[in-house]
Amino acid sequence: MPELPEVETVKNIISPLIKDKTITKIDIFYDRLVQSNIDEFKVKLINQTIKDVTRYGKFLFIHLTSSLVIITHLRMEGKFRYITNLSDARIKHTSLIFYFKDGTCLAFDDTRKFGLMYLTTEEECKNVPMIKKLGIEANKVQGSDLETLYKKFNRKKPIKELLLDQTILCGIGNIYADEICYLCKINPFTPGNLLNKNNIDDVVKNAKVVLEKAIKAGGSTIHSFHPSEGVDGKFQEELLCYGRVNHICPNCGTRFHKEFIGGRGTTFCPNCQVNPLLEKAIGITGPIGSGKSTLLNHFKEEGYITYSCDELIHELYKKDIHKRNISKILGVNFDIENKEITIKARQIMIFEPEKKIAVENYIYPVLENELIKIVKENDCPVIEAPTLFKAHIEYLFKKILIVEISKEQQEVNLINRHDDISSSKKLNHDFTYPKNLSKIRIVRATGNFETFFKNADEAIKD
Ligand SMILES: [Zn+2]
Repeated sequence: MPELPEVETVKNIISPLIKDKTITKIDIFYDRLVQSNIDEFKVKLINQTIKDVTRYGKFLFIHLTSSLVIITHLRMEGKFRYITNLSDARIKHTSLIFYFKDGTCLAFDDTRKFGLMYLTTEEECKNVPMIKKLGIEANKVQGSDLETLYKKFNRKKPIKELLLDQTILCGIGNIYADEICYLCKINPFTPGNLLNKNNIDDVVKNAKVVLEKAIKAGGSTIHSFHPSEGVDGKFQEELLCYGRVNHICPNCGTRFHKEFIGGRGTTFCPNCQVNPLLEKAIGITGPIGSGKSTLLNHFKEEGYITYSCDELIHELYKKDIHKRNISKILGVNFDIENKEITIKARQIMIFEPEKKIAVENYIYPVLENELIKIVKENDCPVIEAPTLFKAHIEYLFKKILIVEISKEQQEVNLINRHDDISSSKKLNHDFTYPKNLSKIRIVRATGNFETFFKNADEAIKD
């Protein structure tokens, strides 16, 4: 659906073409396009001259002589088409044609038939209900509007829905709502009442920036929307987040997610745009043999609900659909419950690391969905996640405990577990973590369990 920048572009294109033209005839092929009295529409507009075209939010206003105004909204796929050759005037989805005195005409084509026109007067224009209820234009908010906006955003609905609500700010649709949330690093599910004044100021600032940039680029050409025949906007090339599901966030390397909010597809980066409603778990991670499982057990004994990602993945591997898909990736049969087959699959993953990566890229998003369910259903689960950073699931945790251990102690632990130290050591080098994440707490695993557990207990309380 065209949004403020696209409608502005349409205005800029048709305005010079139809200004000063006098309507001599109107053909209406789809009556429901006209939402005011259709007979008046057909009669009153004859011999009127177009003086100007303006825009408010996503509405266009065609101003005519005799103080008449046509309010129009393109909705999903409405398009204006200016024609100089009358034989081309009516095409498959044409809903209406204005014929002008000079032999040209303006058609309104609409495949989805959601577009509308409404005839009113300059005087009445602002009182027409669909116009009266509109909020401030999203690219024109002034400092004096902010207090009103703080109140209007102070609702339990997700910010994404509030941005689409034209009675609060008008002109924003699905594309720019996703872009604004991404620029503000606000998760689109965040209820408006969890945002503070700085957050709202940021939303207002970024809305202006992105809409103005998009207007300059002639809007975004998405799906079938073109501002005019043969004319494309360019802003789709600059979109950072909208439509980029499964692409990698340029800021943090996480896969963009897509979910539905109020029926609208919504793309966001779960790590740059943390959902405060999901940031509930305590994570335990660290190199192999550092004592993560020991720590998980400690929390279990303390009464926490605990999960181990290794165990969760092991359960996932048992499911037929994943067996099938991983077999395809590896090119050999994959069955975790068959020891011989598993050894063979492991060997392939060691000798062909790109296949190991492909399996990880397949299973991590599946695991991620399981973890989202766990976090939604439990108050403060403790989750042992060796690949927490690799899988980019930081956003599920309010605290992340990294177990640090000396090399000597680690080797002792691995020998006690009967692990092959030479291959395990290799894995150890893999473990890196972001140094600037404020929710990380380092817990040193000493040989002494009592101090180890005490350090961990303190780390989750601070
Ligand atoms: Zn990101």
